[in-house]
Amino acid sequence: MNEQKEHKKVEIVGWGLAGATLAWQFYFYKKDFVVHDSGENFSSRTAAGLVNPIVFKRLTKSWKADVLLPYAAQFYKKIEDELGVSLVSNRSILRIFASVEEQNNWASVSGDERFEKYMESVQDVEIDKIAAPFGGGKVNTIGNVDTNLFLDASRAFFQEKGVHFFNDKFDYYNVNDTDSFIFCEGFEIKNNFFFNYLPMKPTHGETLTIKTDQIKFEDILNKNMFVLPLGNGYYKVGATYNWELEESITTPFGKKELLEKLKVFADFEFEVVNHEAGIRPTVSDRRPLLGVHPENNNLHVFNGLGTKGVMIAPFFSEQLLRSVIFDEPIDKEVDIKRHEKKFISVK
Ligand SMILES: Cc1cc2nc3c(=O)[nH]c(=O)nc-3n(C[C@H](O)[C@H](O)[C@H](O)COP(=O)(O)OP(=O)(O)OC[C@H]3O[C@@H](n4cnc5c(N)ncnc54)[C@H](O)[C@@H]3O)c2cc1C
Repeated sequence: MNEQKEHKKVEIVGWGLAGATLAWQFYFYKKDFVVHDSGENFSSRTAAGLVNPIVFKRLTKSWKADVLLPYAAQFYKKIEDELGVSLVSNRSILRIFASVEEQNNWASVSGDERFEKYMESVQDVEIDKIAAPFGGGKVNTIGNVDTNLFLDASRAFFQEKGVHFFNDKFDYYNVNDTDSFIFCEGFEIKNNFFFNYLPMKPTHGETLTIKTDQIKFEDILNKNMFVLPLGNGYYKVGATYNWELEESITTPFGKKELLEKLKVFADFEFEVVNHEAGIRPTVSDRRPLLGVHPENNNLHVFNGLGTKGVMIAPFFSEQLLRSVIFDEPIDKEVDIKRHEKKFISVK
């Protein structure tokens, strides 16, 4: 193990998936920290929390799935044990095929040894009121993580242990030389004058929660959208992707899009009981943003979790912690050094 650097007081700014996973790593490594959170969450609290190692459009594995998924599974299990709550649903995602071509592609890919642990073979799908004439295929995964419960229960746990949470919008003029600051601000990094050179390209997304007693299934369904059973007749459906909108607001066109997509394969009556919107912190090169500021060693960033924060955050939160404490290197692919040319010094 590398030698430990002088440990400065750590201030985590932001309590979304990035900030909370990092907090757990500091806890596991027995290091103190405080948290600042403005309370206006833009992404983690809207997320469906799905963990999907397969990219359906291209039928490939998602980036680093073989490393990220097992790490995430173990990480959330450890936290469930600490908190004494159930965060992970442990169920499959059932992809409903749209065509014979998709069925054939699935059949050929699922037999490949690189995919067989994730993809089951083609199967008939018989779910009342769900149209699936071409059948479907199951993805073996941990299902979804209840992100709201994760954030709330973790916060209560740490507060109980004496961790201080400042309910405030961190003022960048409060940066000092004695502490380490780790900015986990999601899309709001755009307002952070230390890190706003990083190429954040936010993706607005909307979901609906519907209520019905006309359908019943356990798996998470996917057919160009997801239908996530929440229990007691509630289902979360989503999501939209909009690269123009940078405000966390729901829209009539987002709702319309989701209802139309649902109508393509689902024929049942329901009531819309909730409509939410969030902003995913996506990056132009679709890779997370980790590392230290080009001119100030006390400033770090953990961001760019994009559309897959639940699977990505656990593994990379440990990598960032090890770079802060032991000065260990960060994977080049995610290190913010790759964007250093965009940084303009103000000294
Ligand atoms: C509709 C939708 C569906 C999604 N579904 C999934 C899914 O199924 N699976 C998946 O893995 N991912 C999903 N995501 C993506 C996922 O939500 C993100 O990858 C992840 O939540 C980003 O977490 P974050 O902590 O970086 O950002 P955020 O969740 O936005 O958290 C940032 C936090 O920082 C705080 N903050 C910012 N600036 C300051 C400041 N100056 N001072 C104090 N606090 C500050 C904010 O208040 C906020 O609480 C979805 C996103 C959306 C919008």
